[in-house]
Amino acid sequence: MSIFKTLGLSQSIVDSLTDLGYEQPTEIQKISIPQILGSKDDLKAFAQTGTGKTAAFSLPILEQIDPNNKNTQAIILSPTRELAIQIANNINDFSKNLKNVKTIAVYGGANIDEQIRPLKRGVQIVVGTPGRTLDLIKRRVLNLESIEWLVLDEADEMLNMGFKEELDNILEKTPSSKQTLLFSATFPKEVEAIARNYMNNPTEISAGQKNIGAANVEHEFFQVTERNRYPALKRIADINPDIYSIVFCRTRRETKDVAEKLIDDGYSADALHGDLSQAQRDLVMQKFRNKNLQILVATDVAARGLDVNDLTHVINYKLPDQTENYTHRSGRTGRAGKKGISVAIITSKERNKLKPIERKIKKNFVQKQVPNGKEICEVQLFKLIDKIHDIEINEKEIKDYLPDIYEKLHELDRDELIKRFVSIEFNSFLSYYQNARDLNNNDAPSDRKRFGDDSLVRFYINQGKMDDLTPARLIGLINECLRKRDVEIGQIEILKSFSFFEIDKNFTQDVLEKMNEAEFNNRSVIVEVTSKPKGRSKRRSSKGFGRNDSGGQRRNNSNDRRNDSGGQRRNDSGGHRSDDFKPRRKKTAPGSRRRRR
Ligand code: AMP
Repeated sequence: MSIFKTLGLSQSIVDSLTDLGYEQPTEIQKISIPQILGSKDDLKAFAQTGTGKTAAFSLPILEQIDPNNKNTQAIILSPTRELAIQIANNINDFSKNLKNVKTIAVYGGANIDEQIRPLKRGVQIVVGTPGRTLDLIKRRVLNLESIEWLVLDEADEMLNMGFKEELDNILEKTPSSKQTLLFSATFPKEVEAIARNYMNNPTEISAGQKNIGAANVEHEFFQVTERNRYPALKRIADINPDIYSIVFCRTRRETKDVAEKLIDDGYSADALHGDLSQAQRDLVMQKFRNKNLQILVATDVAARGLDVNDLTHVINYKLPDQTENYTHRSGRTGRAGKKGISVAIITSKERNKLKPIERKIKKNFVQKQVPNGKEICEVQLFKLIDKIHDIEINEKEIKDYLPDIYEKLHELDRDELIKRFVSIEFNSFLSYYQNARDLNNNDAPSDRKRFGDDSLVRFYINQGKMDDLTPARLIGLINECLRKRDVEIGQIEILKSFSFFEIDKNFTQDVLEKMNEAEFNNRSVIVEVTSKPKGRSKRRSSKGFGRNDSGGQRRNNSNDRRNDSGGQRRNDSGGHRSDDFKPRRKKTAPGSRRRRR
């Protein structure tokens, strides 16, 4: 016998569950279904998102609904339109074998007349967002006077979203005889107040511990500098070619920026935020649900109610201000028994945000290293091999072309052919990740203050103010010699007859080799590695790169969109690429010196 049947559900409901592939009840379903079927007591349920709570409250309601009574018998309030639609769809699926049981979702941003019509015909279960529900009550088309069940789903979110007044108004319109079922992932004092004010001695149930993340979610963090946050995101995506992820940002603006950069950089990504029209949001969500998008960049509010089960990663591009929100974000992965990874990209300053989250989720974050170019190329290479291995061949369509193809390739043996086919895609990854920088910043915040930034090496150069060297000209010289623009440059100090500058340590050898071959103002350039001055942290501004001749900002000499910074960096040499200098020995093709701007 089906376990659902032993919980008290009738065969017609069990059959629909079987059709949906529900074999076993989830933990919250096991507790709540018999509780709601067997008792009229109010119920306060701690349940995380993704634990099957929709079925937990709606199956026992469906079991008891009177199909011959056309009045509204149950009202389910949910924070967002998307969640309301989702719940109503689920209930329709569960009740497909129940004759005359009708359910609709009512929500703002949609034509109200189309919601009024079915209400007038008679609907037993209404799932609504608080604003639209109240509107329909005021228009006297929704009558809650004889309801038997009131469900508050994701009560914490409804209050977070500012629906307190609407909830109070709606709850006043309901009879005291009803059974109130309150489901929430967290129980801050506002939710407790609702429970106190509107519930009668409720029974409390909990599926798992309060406020903890799903058991099968791993929590990881990557520590980088602020400017490496976006490049790190790209590498996380690149090392996971099958990524299916929501990237959470804190503001609409950040959401737009990150999504735009990802799109420009060729990722299958889009943005979901409050500035989009409802139609645009629906479209984006549909694309994401259908897996036509791999990465959805979203704000917390916009992503609420988006029901997707098989996210591989939740990525906190920035950690939320409220610890509670981390639980919500990470609860979107590791659903329905699947494994999930919740990733936080943080700076060393943000490290102190992890502890309160760890206390809440009762798990520790594991620090991971941002993958390097070689690791990514390897993963991408084998992904490509698998793709070639698994590709379906359309024998019929390709047949006619094959003789000519064989003829053209007949000189190439098997090994050569394999290498060439694989290289078609692989080369772009290889060249992109050639000389890729180490993006990790493993300093503790205090270490950075004491010892300076270990990712930079300090150089002496035998040119100074007397030689007309300026910070801009020095950057021009570096650009010219390294023939690269994605090199991080730190502090620059221009003194009378010599100067100092700092550069990403990964380019030490290049600087020594290339700059020692150059001339500046007809004088040979001499560059040497030098030690960092003692007590340097004192000279820094709070930003870490204080007073210096170059204006104190850490700079980067790149403006290439397809670089690790996604076009974010400025080319600080601006128009200053100076003709004062020239490489002493030209090794590259003519014209190459003018190529980048
Ligand atoms: P919910 O927490 O209600 O949003 O459910 C999360 C996801 O789990 C939904 O996609 C449900 O369809 C699915 N689900 C809920 N209960 C079960 C179950 N007993 N067996 C399999 N999947 C389920």
